[in-house]
Amino acid sequence: MTAAQAGTVYLVGAGPGDPELLTLKAARLLASGDVVLHDDLVPAAVLAQAERALVINVGKRCGRKNIAQEQIHFMMVDYARRGLSVIRLKSGDPLVFGRAGEEMDALRAAGIPFEVVPGITAAFAAAAAFRRPLTDRRGASSISFSAGHHAPDSTLEPASLAAATRVVYMPGRDLRGVAVQLRREGLAADLPCVVVSRAAQPDQQIVSTTLAQLDRIASASAPSILLAGECLRETRDFGTIIDYVTDMDTDQPRAMEL
Ligand code: SAH
Repeated sequence: MTAAQAGTVYLVGAGPGDPELLTLKAARLLASGDVVLHDDLVPAAVLAQAERALVINVGKRCGRKNIAQEQIHFMMVDYARRGLSVIRLKSGDPLVFGRAGEEMDALRAAGIPFEVVPGITAAFAAAAAFRRPLTDRRGASSISFSAGHHAPDSTLEPASLAAATRVVYMPGRDLRGVAVQLRREGLAADLPCVVVSRAAQPDQQIVSTTLAQLDRIASASAPSILLAGECLRETRDFGTIIDYVTDMDTDQPRAMEL
């Protein structure tokens, strides 16, 4: 049984909206958590699983005022420091277009323990609804997830595969072939690559390397999956993170060092 631990933040995937498509782990965490901070897209039927929690909508469309991303960071950190278990509930999978990177950076910087619980991403729910496969050995052998709408200061072309995180299922035991193919597509030699074997199983293994070194990984135990992309680069120096919160009395933003 997975009961939410005090002082821990759980980034949980709510799946596409049907409570039956929650993972058991997500359902148990929701049922046992103290505080649920959820996005706008999470429907009431899913939130109903949070029987005892304080449930707060931190979504972009709630009420008249938007809750700033920094304020969400502040809330997660503050509730956890008060010894509460915090469920940060995101639609679909929490690591797909969910600003989880920024939220995990804030949690790391504040020294708050956190865990990520994957969920069924919208792409999979959509394919299931349409009853067509996303891959087909008769002609469709790759999937790239991209955002039609992206951050205003981003220079990414939404359709640019060069900037996409590649997820390679069935990379095989010898990764040399995949590495050669990715290099041929123009990806950089120092591109971060991660091979995850038996993900989410007790004997899970993670090997982190670069595209140039990929072929040196000793055969990973099956099943394994390859992730390649700039967003996998490990940044260890977070410096000082300043959060800006809105002061409830003055309604003015004020800086707060974490
Ligand atoms: N983390 C989410 C994606 C968040 S971005 C995931 O993994 O699914 C929000 C976008 O996801 C929406 O604009 C929509 O394009 C898509 N989305 C989320 N839930 C959806 C659903 N139930 N049906 C169709 N699209 C959905």
